[in-house]
Amino acid sequence: MPTLLGIPLDVNSSYLRGAAGAPAKIREALRCDASNKWTELGVDLGAADAFADAGDLGLKDLRENVAENFAEIERAVSELLGKGERPVLLGGDHSVTYPILKAFARRYAELTIVHFDAHPDLYDEFEGSRMSHACPFARIMEEQLAKRLVQVGIRTIVGHQREQAARFGVEVVEMRALPAYDRLEIHGPVYVSFDIDLLDPAFAPGVSHREPGGMTVREAIAHLHAIKGTVVGADIVEYNPVQDVSGMTATVAAKILKEILGKMIAT
Ligand code: MN
Ligand code: MN
Repeated sequence: MPTLLGIPLDVNSSYLRGAAGAPAKIREALRCDASNKWTELGVDLGAADAFADAGDLGLKDLRENVAENFAEIERAVSELLGKGERPVLLGGDHSVTYPILKAFARRYAELTIVHFDAHPDLYDEFEGSRMSHACPFARIMEEQLAKRLVQVGIRTIVGHQREQAARFGVEVVEMRALPAYDRLEIHGPVYVSFDIDLLDPAFAPGVSHREPGGMTVREAIAHLHAIKGTVVGADIVEYNPVQDVSGMTATVAAKILKEILGKMIAT
């Protein structure tokens, strides 16, 4: 069963804090009575056995505790996977995807990651940190935690990250090359990592790094629905309530969460 787990951690953010407040706001928006609980793929998330919620992890709010925090994230995700659950992680900044994938790699040898983001997050190090939210996919590919990494919506790539993508064999679909439906016909288990800043700031202003020229919510949902293969886990990261306007990004994050859960249940 898909199981939510909140990871309220933003100490590895390079520019703004605030993403640690996301899990509570996304849950609140998911429960909001302004909308019903059915997904567009015809799944009723209001049914008692549709999905579970394991609450939030208790983590240390200091960058010095990175190893301890990452070990706790890996342990908690491993525990869910060991019970046969399909973890859906609510970040937090994007640094959390590295320890999450450490747990997934032990369970799934042939995993494909579909990574939606404005940024490739492939820096070898960023401002002195190799655990920055700008680096998780460099760590994941170095340690071969996935068979394939398909990045969609990228629009901030610098020379160094283009070299990193080539070095690791990352399949990058830049925003200007969309749509990417043909790249989402995947065989085998799929992990979806969804950075909210994929979306245009007009639709989702509540992020730490607003990058214009992004997807509409509709384009993002169409790409999620287009994924072939079995979605065995997912994360939604980088929603920053401090930057939000009237809770509109929380509503968008909850909508994306609904469609990811619906996809996991329907296929
Ligand atoms: Mn990211
Ligand atoms: Mn991003």
